[in-house]
Amino acid sequence: MAVVSLKGLTKRFGADVAAVRDLTLEVRHGEVLSLLGPSGCGKTTTLRLVAGFLDPDAGEIWVGDRRLSAPGVTVPPERRGMSMIFQSYAVWPHKTVAENVAYGLKFRDVPRIEVPKRVRDALALVRLELLADRYPGELSGGQQQRVALARALVVEPQILLLDEPLSNLDANLREEMRFELRRLHEELGITTLYVTHDQAEAMVTSDRIAVMREGGVEQVGTPREIYDTPATAFVARFVGGANLLAGVLDDRGQVRIADGLALRPRDVGGFGPGDAVVVAVRPHRIALVGAAGEGDANTVAGLVTRVAYFGDTVDVQVALAASGPSLRLAAPPDVGVTVGDRVTLAIRPDACIVLPAR
Ligand code: ATP
Repeated sequence: MAVVSLKGLTKRFGADVAAVRDLTLEVRHGEVLSLLGPSGCGKTTTLRLVAGFLDPDAGEIWVGDRRLSAPGVTVPPERRGMSMIFQSYAVWPHKTVAENVAYGLKFRDVPRIEVPKRVRDALALVRLELLADRYPGELSGGQQQRVALARALVVEPQILLLDEPLSNLDANLREEMRFELRRLHEELGITTLYVTHDQAEAMVTSDRIAVMREGGVEQVGTPREIYDTPATAFVARFVGGANLLAGVLDDRGQVRIADGLALRPRDVGGFGPGDAVVVAVRPHRIALVGAAGEGDANTVAGLVTRVAYFGDTVDVQVALAASGPSLRLAAPPDVGVTVGDRVTLAIRPDACIVLPAR
């Protein structure tokens, strides 16, 4: 079973930088798990530790019942049963597509007679069979990335490691390739660790997402769990975006924010009166309404300070008080508000996610 277990992993660079801190995580057999987080949070360092390019300062890496890394013990990368794909496709410019893919087998124990078939099969998987004799310079960026993918797959790895594999592609191609990577995974079922800072990419390609922050894991869950029930304000903001309002829970189940502003959530979680909390509200869960409000929704008044048109939505920023917080909402394209309008917002209790203050 290709279960990858990271146990209390720590990696320092010099005295000051702990790029990965006491990280514990399991990649289940046959799943795609993404490491998602902002630049510098330790994603690539974690992947390089798993690949065996770096040694941990503390902690261990296991695949099934094989210990691959521990301080002073490192199985070399080529003996880990893993293939890694980098964001720079790293294909050889002077070799054809087929030769690039065959190169993946050069240091493996594959009988020469089998090589052409293995290469053909790998190219078929990524739908490049007709371009086998071209050189990389004659391919688009997306096709070059497929060559890198075929070269990684041709060795039939037990585990696939991908480091921002789509970041060099333009937006349209990147979107297409996300679905393509997911299709390939469904066909092959290889246990995969996928590094990205792009939440849409993580959501399309992954079974589960580990959101990373400052060298550690903040939350692990399915894309839906991470989005619908973020564990922290950091996760709510990083995945999907959210307005964050700091306040204190009162004894009537309301969160008092500032200047007489209060929000009533449906569920206060495990918090009690007097607790400092953060209320997260997704921009699309805030509606513009008439002053009478809307059913049991919280209503707050404010002043429109910014409007940006996106075609499918309008991004509206509303200041709730002169010196108080602002909210961003995603309004329908025909919303018809302009800067300077006084508006009333409705926020339903179930749109208020109560999270710990930090
Ligand atoms: P990005 O999305 O920008 O690639 P990341 O989440 O992959 O970021 P890492 O590359 O793992 O982040 O880096 C984590 C931290 O470790 C950063 O502060 C980085 O500057 C530092 N770091 C990474 N590699 C080295 C190195 N070889 N020497 C010194 N510091 C390093």
